[in-house]
Amino acid sequence: MLETAHDEIKKAAKKLQLTDQDIDELLKVEHEHQFKIELDSGKTLGAFRMQHSSKRGPYKGGIRFHPDVDLDEVKALATLMSFKTAAVNIPMGGGKGGVVVNPRELSKEEVEEIARKYVRGLQEHLGPQTDVPAPDVNTNGEIIDWMVDEYSKLTGDETKASFTGKTIANGGSEGRIQATGYGGYLVVNELLEQMGRADEELTFAVQGAGNVAEYFVRSVLDKRPNWKFIAISDSSATVYRKDGLDMHSLLALKEGKGRFSDYEGGDAEVRSSYAIIGLECDVLVLAALGDAVNEGNQDQVKASMILELANGPVDSDVMEELEWRDISIIPDIVANAGGVIVSYLEWQQNLDGEHWPEDTVLRKLEDIIVPATRDMVTTSRKENVNLKTAAFINAIKRLKNA
Ligand code: NAD
Repeated sequence: MLETAHDEIKKAAKKLQLTDQDIDELLKVEHEHQFKIELDSGKTLGAFRMQHSSKRGPYKGGIRFHPDVDLDEVKALATLMSFKTAAVNIPMGGGKGGVVVNPRELSKEEVEEIARKYVRGLQEHLGPQTDVPAPDVNTNGEIIDWMVDEYSKLTGDETKASFTGKTIANGGSEGRIQATGYGGYLVVNELLEQMGRADEELTFAVQGAGNVAEYFVRSVLDKRPNWKFIAISDSSATVYRKDGLDMHSLLALKEGKGRFSDYEGGDAEVRSSYAIIGLECDVLVLAALGDAVNEGNQDQVKASMILELANGPVDSDVMEELEWRDISIIPDIVANAGGVIVSYLEWQQNLDGEHWPEDTVLRKLEDIIVPATRDMVTTSRKENVNLKTAAFINAIKRLKNA
């Protein structure tokens, strides 16, 4: 992952004719924190916080609790966060953290102990103007609330701007739950408008049916009655209907913790989970996993556009081949930035002692993500590069000018 991230950055940097020294500077992680968390039970856990860049603002990025967390992965994720915040032009940097642990093997008390000890181990390197972490894989608002509480006890900080992704009752933002899916809708809508296609009867297939996919689908249903969902998948199956699916009943099935393999909805077909990749549609929305389109299945793709809502769902090795076949890829770095943008808005609200209503938050999200999409398209046309390289070029220019 670190290599892929670096390759992408180098590709854009070469286009800007940066020197090797400039490139090294862009890739360098400013601070690497590695420490041990000793639990009362006697267990010892490895913990990390990588702070890649603070040139444009405080480090920003999640903390994950996972048994496979390792130094290089956290470095790659921290680096990508700096480029993501710069690509959408918010005044924050990039960081990422993790604890090597499987939270499913722990009691709730132990998870709380880890959260609090993580903050104690890093206290002097965190803070509203220094590093503002958020939830990530296996961490959530409740865990972040413990972290904020610990940070406040240690430092006396009362703003709660030291972390984002808090519960609403504890200073979290309205709109965070729908931010990434809604942001993805705004990005694809802007691109389709620029192409003069937004008012056409377009067909969509969605891989994944979690938080991001749900709010992407709800946004489209709400705003674009001319766009039709012909397929959606989860890890159990793909549900397909050429003339359009009843998405309300499918979302309700997932809300009730059901599986698509059990779906019985009129004349919709239930196919294998991986069948979603090869369906004929205008836009294939990837909102589940990394590397969903890879060397093994890229030749099956029949969509004319891919929207990357997960992180790295199109393997970088197959991107050129897809683009050669005229399939445009809307890159994750902008397409799924809605979450980090609302995190930034949460931080702003906390610093100003305010709590904005949902429609204000979503309007501010739109005011950030739509211009970022336009900038990406402009650079792509001007430099004659794909959208991903264009987003990285914009990010590099902003990081260099900071
Ligand atoms: P989630 O856990 O809520 O949902 C993931 C969904 O993917 C589930 O419905 C699961 O059934 C489905 N899935 C798993 N394996 C699958 C398979 N093989 N085929 C089809 N579906 C499969 O996660 P989420 O929050 O919706 O995030 C989705 C992706 O977006 C992740 O890669 C995440 O890292 C990324 N992302 C999320 C956010 C955010 O704000 N939630 C922000 C940026 C990026």
